[in-house]
Amino acid sequence: MSFVSEFNSLPLPALVKRAQTSGSATVRETVAKGTLSLADFAALISPAGSEMLETLGRRAHAMTQQRFGKVIRLFAPLYLSNECINNCKYCGFSRDNPIMRVTLSIDEVRREAMALHDQGFRNILLVAGEHPKFVSGNYLRDCVAALRSNWPGISLEVGPMETEEYLPIVQAGAEGLVVYQETYDRGLYDDMHTAGPKKNFDWRLETAERGYAAGFRRLGIGALSGLADWRYEPICVAAHADYLLRKCWKASVSISLPRLRPCAGEFQPLTHMTDRDLAQVICAFRLMFPDVGLVLSTREQAKLRDGLIPLGITLMSAGSHTEPGGYTGAGKEHIHHTERGRIVEVGSSEWAPMNGRATNATGQFEIADERSPREVAELIRKLGYEPVWKDWDAALTT
Ligand code: SF4
Repeated sequence: MSFVSEFNSLPLPALVKRAQTSGSATVRETVAKGTLSLADFAALISPAGSEMLETLGRRAHAMTQQRFGKVIRLFAPLYLSNECINNCKYCGFSRDNPIMRVTLSIDEVRREAMALHDQGFRNILLVAGEHPKFVSGNYLRDCVAALRSNWPGISLEVGPMETEEYLPIVQAGAEGLVVYQETYDRGLYDDMHTAGPKKNFDWRLETAERGYAAGFRRLGIGALSGLADWRYEPICVAAHADYLLRKCWKASVSISLPRLRPCAGEFQPLTHMTDRDLAQVICAFRLMFPDVGLVLSTREQAKLRDGLIPLGITLMSAGSHTEPGGYTGAGKEHIHHTERGRIVEVGSSEWAPMNGRATNATGQFEIADERSPREVAELIRKLGYEPVWKDWDAALTT
């Protein structure tokens, strides 16, 4: 049995209705409870919960400090490749988008990683589109092996794989696996994923479990906000996290609710989650899951990120680039253009970087918080928190 069967039997319409109609008395009772159910979570994200956001925020803040202390863990994404065989309507890397693509060589990955290392990072998230030819299991294993000695925390956000394919990557030194379901609405999922293996909803939904079976000790899940109803998605993410905490109990779980950003293809969000909604959902996650990591990326504006930190955020990215080679220009000499998935070589004038960028490779989406890692760390300190660049060492696992 996997999360798929549990997901299929969730009373989602009733939970969404509860999220829409719970009154303030229910929310007040829920905030005072020690252990929360999925129905309680739904009540917290209701309009009545929004009216009590200050109360929710105070409780979420206190719980986060109790469990995590005053620390924020920092990480940086390193994009290995923007090649992809899927067409996801909302993503700049979609196969049919005519963009500038590249896959970094192992030496280029090292170069990019060293630039992040010099900035202080020790937790890195290796990100790539899904393309078995360019981003194979062996390639990912070699990337991890090349970074292992300098990076105590290596996580992956790549196309889903079989447990057996994950094994050598874990053995090479990766500890975390991040896979967002994008949307937990089956019909919408089918509509958003028009071509490629990503169309298989259940296969993706079981990815965290396959990763856990291979030995990943950090699991990241989430939904892309801007697709399905903003109350529906967090309820499903909460159900998923609850399942993973029970079944994959040796791993730590983190949750992210990335909001859609402008990207190639110019997809327009179908739904809107306001800043206040996002704050409310973060509080609800903290109240239901005292020990779960809550991630906030540079998709959000600097001012909002600063304001959300005290509510329960435990992990933040900083100074991010979403284009392969974005930190150093690595790989810019072998960028190519693709048109409907077909490679078109470009001349040197086209791969020469423009507008102060290190590379002309296309990014996955536009960043909203463009502050440097140092500036973000300084802000974290100003808020009374300690920025943590390294929180694990391989020696601890031996
Ligand atoms: S979301 Fe992932 S799978 Fe879909 S096009 Fe973008 S990189 Fe490829």
